[in-house]
Parts: sequence; C-alpha cells; structure tokens
Amino acid sequence: MKLPNYVSGRWSEGRGAGELLADPVTGDELASISSQGIDLEAALQFARAHGGPALRQLTYIQRAELLGKIADVLAANRDEYFRLSLLNLGATQADASFDVDGAIYTMKYYSKIGRALAEGKMLKEGAPVPLSKSHAFVGQHFLMPTKGAAVFINAFNFPAWGFCEKAAPALLTGVPIVVKPASPTAWLAHRMVEDIVKADILPPGAISIICGSARDLLGHLREEDIVSFTGSADTAARIRSHATVLGCSVRVNIEADSINAAILGPDCTSGTDLFDLLVKEVVREMTLKAGQKCTTIRRVLVPRHQLKAFGDAVTARLSAMKVGNPRNPEVKVGPVVNKAQQSSCLEGLAKLKEECEVLFGGDKNFQPIDADPQNSAFVQPALLSCKNGLDAKYVHDVEVFGPVATLVAYDGLEDVIAITRRGLGSLVASVFSDDANFTRDTVLGIGDLHGRVLVVDSTVGNQHTGHGNVVPSCVHGGPGRAGGGEELAGLRALLLYHRRFVVQGPANCIRQLLALCVDTAPLYS
Ligand code: NAP
Repeated sequence: MKLPNYVSGRWSEGRGAGELLADPVTGDELASISSQGIDLEAALQFARAHGGPALRQLTYIQRAELLGKIADVLAANRDEYFRLSLLNLGATQADASFDVDGAIYTMKYYSKIGRALAEGKMLKEGAPVPLSKSHAFVGQHFLMPTKGAAVFINAFNFPAWGFCEKAAPALLTGVPIVVKPASPTAWLAHRMVEDIVKADILPPGAISIICGSARDLLGHLREEDIVSFTGSADTAARIRSHATVLGCSVRVNIEADSINAAILGPDCTSGTDLFDLLVKEVVREMTLKAGQKCTTIRRVLVPRHQLKAFGDAVTARLSAMKVGNPRNPEVKVGPVVNKAQQSSCLEGLAKLKEECEVLFGGDKNFQPIDADPQNSAFVQPALLSCKNGLDAKYVHDVEVFGPVATLVAYDGLEDVIAITRRGLGSLVASVFSDDANFTRDTVLGIGDLHGRVLVVDSTVGNQHTGHGNVVPSCVHGGPGRAGGGEELAGLRALLLYHRRFVVQGPANCIRQLLALCVDTAPLYS
C-alpha cells in the first residue's frame, strides 16, 4: 500500500518505490510513502490562493467551530489511531493515548477557547496612540492573520499530537496548513488528515499533507509563509539556514531536542513522599513511549548522599517492568521506532557509559518479551549514575532518545544551578522539594534557560500535571538548544500566525478598522 499525498485539493501518489514504513516489533513492512513527482510549489500556491482566503472569510468563532468538528471526527476514529500507533510505532495503550488523546484534547481545547475571539477578523492590540495635538492623527497596533501558508515539519515521535497542536492555532487564525510528518511514522498523521478531508470540514486548500521527503518544499516558501518545525537540532539548523528562509525572512518556529533535568531537593530524603513521587516520575518518564518524548527527564539531579538510595529505588521499579511486544498485556515498555533509532540510542548510551556507572539495564543483548531481537527495535531501559556532573560532557550533551536517564550527584544550590544550566537551554526542568527557599533560588537560577519549570511540593503531591506532559494552556518550547521556539500557551499560540503592524492615520480610518477587530486580551487571560 502506498499512501498518497493530499495537495492542491486532491490525492496524488508519489513516484517510485518510496520509503517503507515498518512495524518496530515484527519488522513487517506496512506501507510506503513518496513525495517524488509532487509539485510542491503548486501545493503551497494552492493553499495560499484557495485555502487561506476561504478560511479568512470566516470569523474566529466560525473557525473555532470547525476545530470542534475536526475534534469530533478524530474522536470517532480513535480506535483506528490506536491500531496504527501499535503497528507503526509499537505503542502500548498508554503510549498511544499520550499521543492520540493528547491530540484530540488539544483540538477540543482550541475549539473551546477560540470562541473567546468571537466575530472578529483581526486583532487590535492596545488603545490608539495620539500622534498629533488634536488627536486627528493616531496610531493603532493590529495583529493580522498572515496570508501565507503554515508548513509543519514534524518529528516521528508524536505523529498525532504534533500535527494537532500546530494545526489548531493555525486554522483558528485562518492560515492554511501543509503537514509534512516524519517519514518513519507518517501513517497516523496521514490517516487523521484523510478522515478530516473525507468529513469535508475544511475548504479546499486549507489542509494538505506531504508524505516522504520535504524535497524542494522550503525553496518555494514566501515572505508571508510560516514554518513550524519539530525535530532534531541538526535538522533545525539546516532549516534555519536555508537560503529561501533567510532570503525571504520566513518566520520559523523551532522545537528541538533537550536534555531536561529533574531536581530532588536537599530536604527530600529516602522515605519522604516527595522522594517517592520523583522516583515514580523518573520511571514513568523513562518508560512512557519508551522515553521518546522531547520533554523526557534525561538527567536527575540528586543530593550526593541520596544517590545510592535513589538509584536503588528507580532500579527496583524499572526491573519490575516488562519490556517487549505491546500486544502482550503484561508489557509496559514498547520498542523505539525503528532500527536506526535503536542504533542511535545504543551509540548514545555507549558515550554515556564512558563517564557514568551503569546502575541498571542498557544491555544490547537483552531479550524482549514476544519479539525477535533481530527484527525488532527494542532498547532495554537503562539507568546511569554520574558522580562528577560538572566535569561530565556527554551527560549534558547527548540526547539518548529512548528509555535512558542519568542520575547526577550535586553538593549544593550552586551545583544544582550550574549542572542544570549545562543543558544549554531546555524545554522543562522539575524541582521536587518542600524547601521553599531552595525552590525559589533554583527557579531564579534556571528560569531563563527553560521554557517550563515544574515545581512539586507536599501541598501539590500527585496533583501535578507531569514533568513530560505538555498542557495546551501553558507554553511549550525552550531557549538555546531546545530551539528557541514557543508553542501553545492558550491563545498566545495564535501570535505565530499573525503579523503585528501599526496604522498611523486619521482617527476615522482607525475607527473603521477597529470595527473589524477583537481585542487581544483573551490571548493573555
Ligand atoms: P529529524 O530527523 O530532525 O526530523 C524531523 C523532521 O524534519 C522530519 O519530518 C524529517 O523528514 C524532516 N527533515 C529532515 N531533513 C529535512 C530537511 N533538510 N528539510 C526539511 N525537512 C527535513 O527528527 P526526528 O528524528 O523525526 O525526531 C526526533 C527529535 O525530535 C528528537 O531529537 C526530539 O528531541 C525532537 N523532538 C522535539 C520536540 C519538541 O517539541 N521540542 C518534540 C518531539 C521531538 P523525514 O522524516 O522525511 O526525514
């Protein structure tokens, strides 16, 4: 089966044999994809010329209603998405839920909060600024939906959520979307787009999907287009420095990789609730989606005298978790997505082992349950320990995109801040502590290099939303190595797809424009 592309309002199969999509548990070939021979320039132009104007004929509230219909269609096909997640990603039920239910929830969420923007066509920002003594000449800032297309280049690990968390704010703004899922796991995003197209919810050109290589897509971008990228830092650098992206100042949002940290406060000794809570969180983070989340905890900063106790507690839980074929109901940890990722994880692990002690797992010859190690792509969960974090290199630099975490000993607040900052910009860090001064000083020491800081104390306990969970009401993204991008954060996400401009002119002209606008206040509420 070859999955066709949906561009210029029709389904078209790419030329050639294409790339194969495989089951990471059995190695079976599932489908192929190809973008060869597809006119990507025409695809973008069709989106700009047809999808954009049709979407922008509608008001924000009408587009919010479209998102609601999309969410309903996706919810109705949820079982099929779980099936494809199992086949193409080796996802357990929990893994599939994280991606698929997260996608549906995000779409619903934007449908709901988008209604706050009511009948407007664009947004007004602030009040008119007097520019003359008589107030006849004034300035007014506006945010206008861009007339270009939004190109989404996504990572393999979240084919459903990665598509929806980008699609919802773009469509709500009135910008047509061109989705380019990562090749190895394109099937699920493809199926979601197919369901949305079949349901005839969006006008022609509002949604397109390209399966396979991005080929010359970036070369056809224009000034009014947006690129929203999620993936590795290496690919991000190539996209950022693409000649057309630079030449046309194309707006680019980058969500890249991240060596996220979780910090156990000095007060959380073995036996305390917060100690146990962080142990559970580390194990959940390592094993959910086999550690293939950009937000997963990679480094756990632990007071030096707690290192052994913490390592023992994590090891005890990890060793009780069955790793193997998710079709077996006892299995809790599935494979990584393919053989290439398995090799990449084992290479990264080998580097970490050069400067860390192995506390558990990481055996490349281990036997997964109900799967042939030759054909499958499993990585045994591995816990490492690093006693000299400030001198370590790989611990802060190598993202093993699998079920691997490293405990790093620290000796005081200064150490905590210095070690955490060695991630050089992260999506998230967590602080588990009842010592309010320690927490405050840690947040002050690391906040500027993190998109999100999760703080858990005894008043919060297990009510926290999770280190690795991205909630659509809060910002997702991070500075530096994490890419410097920002997504979600409620209606703030719409800022990426709007352009700010000011009109300096007669008060009457401004009044006419203001009649078409809604206020930006809901963006910041
Ligand atoms: P990747 O290899 O960088 O690929 C990401 C996407 O870029 C894929 O769709 C890929 O297409 C495309 N691509 C590759 N080269 C390109 C080029 N020259 N021009 C245009 N597009 C190009 O990343 P991945 O292996 O799929 O994902 C894993 C990484 O993503 C991890 O490092 C993880 O931390 C990161 N990630 C970050 C976030 C976040 O929100 N910050 C979320 C999830 C994952 P093909 O597949 O067709 O090559």
